[in-house]
Amino acid sequence: MTGHTQEKWTFNELAGDDSRGMGYVNDGSEDIAHVGVMGYSTQQNLKLAHLIAAAPETAAERDRLKTLNEELLTLMAATDIQYRGCEYPSTCGEEWTCTPCRFRAAIAKAQPEKVPA
Ligand SMILES: [Zn+2]
Repeated sequence: MTGHTQEKWTFNELAGDDSRGMGYVNDGSEDIAHVGVMGYSTQQNLKLAHLIAAAPETAAERDRLKTLNEELLTLMAATDIQYRGCEYPSTCGEEWTCTPCRFRAAIAKAQPEKVPA
């Protein structure tokens, strides 16, 4: 991910008993976001703050999974399994699903934009 520091983001709760879990997310060099909703409980605000502070790790994991997905799709496309006919035409998908059908379903799920309507 670009556009932010490579430092770990941290959440710093405001001081005082009435902070109610509100505070600032810091990107390692400066505060980048105020976090907290007046009507939220302390627990809700802290949950929100930690989700926002985890954004760089979440984005890095998303990017890692996108890359892995592309690699797996490339490997799957290199086999001929997806082009084979169904191995159990009368029962496939009921008790179990055959490998060619599982390949086609996995590819369709990973690339919904490429499945013909
Ligand atoms: Zn099948």
